Amino acid sequence: MMYKPKPLTISRVLDTFRTIAKESGKDSQDKKRSHIKGLLVAATDCEPQYIIRLLQSKMRIGLAEKTVQMALGQAAVYSEKGSPPKKVQSPFEEAAKIIKEAYSVLPVYDKIVPTLLDAGVWKLPETCNFSIGVPVGPMLAKATKSVSEIIDKFQGREYTCEYKYDGERAQIHCMEDGTVEIYSRSAERNTGKYPDVVDAISRIRKPTVKSFVLDCEIVAYDREKKRILPFQILSTRARKGVTINDIKVSVCTFGFDILYINGKPLLQEQLKVRREHLYNSFEEVPGVFQLATAITSNDLEEIQKFLDLSVNSSCEGLIIKTLDTDATYEPAKRSNNWLKLKKDYMDSVGDSLDLVPIAAFHGRGKRTGVYGSFLLACYDEHNEEYQTICNIGTGFSEQQLEERSTSLRSKVIKNPKAYYRFADTTDPDVWFEPSEVWEVKAADLSISPVHRAANGIVDPNKVADMYRAQKINHSHNQEDEDDD
Ligand code: ATP
Repeated sequence: MMYKPKPLTISRVLDTFRTIAKESGKDSQDKKRSHIKGLLVAATDCEPQYIIRLLQSKMRIGLAEKTVQMALGQAAVYSEKGSPPKKVQSPFEEAAKIIKEAYSVLPVYDKIVPTLLDAGVWKLPETCNFSIGVPVGPMLAKATKSVSEIIDKFQGREYTCEYKYDGERAQIHCMEDGTVEIYSRSAERNTGKYPDVVDAISRIRKPTVKSFVLDCEIVAYDREKKRILPFQILSTRARKGVTINDIKVSVCTFGFDILYINGKPLLQEQLKVRREHLYNSFEEVPGVFQLATAITSNDLEEIQKFLDLSVNSSCEGLIIKTLDTDATYEPAKRSNNWLKLKKDYMDSVGDSLDLVPIAAFHGRGKRTGVYGSFLLACYDEHNEEYQTICNIGTGFSEQQLEERSTSLRSKVIKNPKAYYRFADTTDPDVWFEPSEVWEVKAADLSISPVHRAANGIVDPNKVADMYRAQKINHSHNQEDEDDD
């Protein structure tokens, strides 16, 4: 360095991060890299570590959104000029709660903090509201295991069952001036991925609709055969810069909720009312825009049949939602008022597989000291070999993980056995003797570009049989199966 760079200040780092985020187009990668280099060169002591962690969005110091909101709440209470309303018992907690709620409908600190400074924390609920053009965190559903559990949980309330489509969540904002923006589940701008969806908006909204925010699922769709395609097909679409003429994977948008219409937020309305707005505001165009298939029933058998129908239509299961009590839209929340029933959660669906752990990866973070994930193989009797089928890293209790790690540690071998079949790219931290058989449940089997089970199969064997038996494959191409 010719000159010692100026010391980093918080505002300089923030400004640089903003510049990085806004770089786009030609040479943007290089430009971003050079901004990061600039920061790292100027960093001293432990600063590089935090710059890198910030860039990765992983601070690893136990700091999460909630901590930020609590800190803001405290700061707001300390700097509050007026005293809090009388009824507030624990002002710090109450202030943090208000900030959390404001953030859920307006997730932009750049709007919340100035409002805090201006009007104070107790006024925040009136001053920070849902705004069109600013995506809110989507409402999420809690998992359930059976239709009877749902009937129990929602006893005495009216509810509706909808197909659970397996695509990509989308929040579509259509502004007064006709501008359309599509946001992903994590509130990323996804408009560039779906120009066809943007294009369809003018055809699907009724003339009375000037502005709206639609909650929906975008699903890969075969318009000729009129059927939904698996998520894997959708994920082959480029993430941005898609042009309508180059689109190979058509999509259908399934609308299931509406959060705003013609200048009016609907979050506080019950689903029954929101749905009326939804049904009255859009025209269905088959294969382009459809309303989520739904029934209103509290009959176990009827719901069970509807679930089977949904799975037969290449959906993942059902989402069951309260209709007119406790049925407001709760942004960014895994709510008790939406329950999901996926075929893989259900005890009765799917056979289990007997698999052998043949290798593992060291655990990191919370899992330091045990294995973090295992490479599993199935045994092919015909070829007398173990063929990799998947990695597994979830579904264990901490105790089970500890026990399996301890037991397998004594089975570590230097090199993989000659009768292990795995891809060249498979590079685990340790290999094991084949010594344990685990019973593993799976939701779906899909064709892996990496794993070796039933590779190039001509004769049917167990895994290929199971793969062929599952319903979702009806939408796969036969060629896919033959290729792999
Ligand atoms: P996990 O945390 O296990 O990934 P999740 O709740 O985050 O589960 P899903 O289990 O896939 O995600 O279930 C919720 C998602 O289902 C929603 O985010 C949405 O994308 C999708 N979905 C499909 N159909 C509907 C529907 N009719 N109503 C609401 N969400 C639906």
